[in-house]
Amino acid sequence: MLTIGAFARASRLSPKALRLYDELGLLRPARVDPRSGYRFYARDQLERARLVAWLRRLGMPLARIRTVCDLAPAEAAAEIAAYWAGVEADTAARRDLAAFLIDQLRGEDPAMTHETISGIRYAALSDTGLVREGNQDTAYADSRLLAVADGFGADGAAAGSAAIEALRALEQTPAPLPGDILNTLSEAVGRANRAVAERGAGEDSGTTLTAMLWTGSRLALVHVGDSRAYLLRDGGFFRITHDHTLVQSLVDEGRITPEEASAHPQRALLLRALDGRDGEGSVPDLTLHDARPGDRYLLCSDGLYGVVRDADLRRVLTTGSTPEQAVRELIALAHEAGAPDNVSCVVADTVPAARPDSPAGAVRPGR
Ligand code: MN
Repeated sequence: MLTIGAFARASRLSPKALRLYDELGLLRPARVDPRSGYRFYARDQLERARLVAWLRRLGMPLARIRTVCDLAPAEAAAEIAAYWAGVEADTAARRDLAAFLIDQLRGEDPAMTHETISGIRYAALSDTGLVREGNQDTAYADSRLLAVADGFGADGAAAGSAAIEALRALEQTPAPLPGDILNTLSEAVGRANRAVAERGAGEDSGTTLTAMLWTGSRLALVHVGDSRAYLLRDGGFFRITHDHTLVQSLVDEGRITPEEASAHPQRALLLRALDGRDGEGSVPDLTLHDARPGDRYLLCSDGLYGVVRDADLRRVLTTGSTPEQAVRELIALAHEAGAPDNVSCVVADTVPAARPDSPAGAVRPGR
């Protein structure tokens, strides 16, 4: 038996922390002297104490630590992976918000000059593929809106086009203020979901929707379902959407690997989609992206990324000279892979604005 002082030294927890963990039921002493109230710990409790100390260093809340400590090692590992995935998702969301605020405040600084973008060049193409009888995908692009919808169920095609039409209605209204754009989009997605309910007679019908609305300096991204958006920037290739699928949630929780997900029998099972019903299941992810000159965006349905590897997507986007050429090459790759599903893609490039007020070679602050 170790006294609380000896146990504290061995476990690198303070006596004060040990008393707190006792009170919370996290780490009970092996014996408490009934007369003096002194706590005594067994040597084999050190392992649990060290685990508690490490989990505290991770920032895990005490209630969750108690859960982890009571699990078998494999389940404890999965629980820690799930906790950490949540921390990273939260950090990513806050990082985006911080970047947006920094960018917005710098934009108000007259000393800063921004490389501006005059618009986007784009191409959209949707293809039935080699196996399906009809095409329930919709791909759409114009100078302000890029969108891909992958309909499902008896009225899937109508659901997809109704969702995109609801977003196109935004183009008739004046551009919202940057601070209002996400609210405006959120309302538009609500209208899109109601349009799906009106158009889709079939109970099981609905659609995914991944769209970007160009606001003049930023791209607002709206996403629900398992279509995707990717960004090619400075040679890096990033996926900027998160699939709302059962398999993605299993990956996030550390239960399966991304490789296992792509071969999972239930990989098409959506956790969120515009299916005409109210509730959590149709809530979109909404984010603002600071577009930069030279950015190239790809929006696509699962008929593309399900059969064409990321490395090949990246290669085509890097080498395809125009958006038209890139979308044609991407659909050709899906065909080479058998095109078992409808395939849709939209490719868009940001166009740098001419800057007559700054002579070539002038030094300007970096971003
Ligand atoms: Mn599909």
